[in-house]
Amino acid sequence: MTIASNIEAIHAKIARAGQNSPLSVPRPTLLGASKGQNEAAIEEAIIGGLRVFGENRVQEAQTKWPALRAAHTNIELHLIGPLQTNKVKEALELFDVIQTLDRKKLAETIANELKKLPHCAAAKFFIQINTGKEPQKAGVLPEEADAFIDDCINALRLPVVGLMCVPPVGQPPSPHFALLRKIAQAHGLKELSMGMSEDFEAAVRMGSTCVRVGTAIFGERV
Ligand SMILES: *Cc1c(COP(=O)(O)O)cnc(C)c1O
Repeated sequence: MTIASNIEAIHAKIARAGQNSPLSVPRPTLLGASKGQNEAAIEEAIIGGLRVFGENRVQEAQTKWPALRAAHTNIELHLIGPLQTNKVKEALELFDVIQTLDRKKLAETIANELKKLPHCAAAKFFIQINTGKEPQKAGVLPEEADAFIDDCINALRLPVVGLMCVPPVGQPPSPHFALLRKIAQAHGLKELSMGMSEDFEAAVRMGSTCVRVGTAIFGERV
């Protein structure tokens, strides 16, 4: 299997999952989770038609993406891993979308930096929700989500467009996707970043607008 044929197969599965959903669901964006992948593999994905990518680490993205962006048009780069407050400026300069807004201090730091970086004004944000309440996992707890979302949007005026989650390993993911959808709907947030290689079809059926797929595109990470 080549990367291009993997991408094609995933698009077909996404389309089928959408048709099988009892809900009226959108066609989600396929985001390539490219952590640990080298430039050659990413180039192959771009040639295979992928334009939206997610990286987990600011530093890794800084080494890989400036050259890739210079060589290709219409690339959209998302941060899908945890963000430290001392990396906010670099992250805002590099990423179009930050999916991992998950705590007050980070939200405040972003709001402050955005005032100083007018050329980053187009950045968009997802709030990460820890739907499984896992102590080791990033994200806002579900019971704190309403207040946090409200704070980010109304007090800090951050352009929050949606919510993101990574369900616990070994549990059926759909209840987590349903919870994320419910919280987003309560706040009129349209974007739902949910679904990975193992569970993207379930996420599509639940209304995902962005599936983040790594292994199923690129193969196992080395
Ligand atoms: C690595 C990663 C993915 C992709 O995982 P796969 O199982 O390889 O598809 C998606 N989301 C996040 C936050 C990740 O860290």
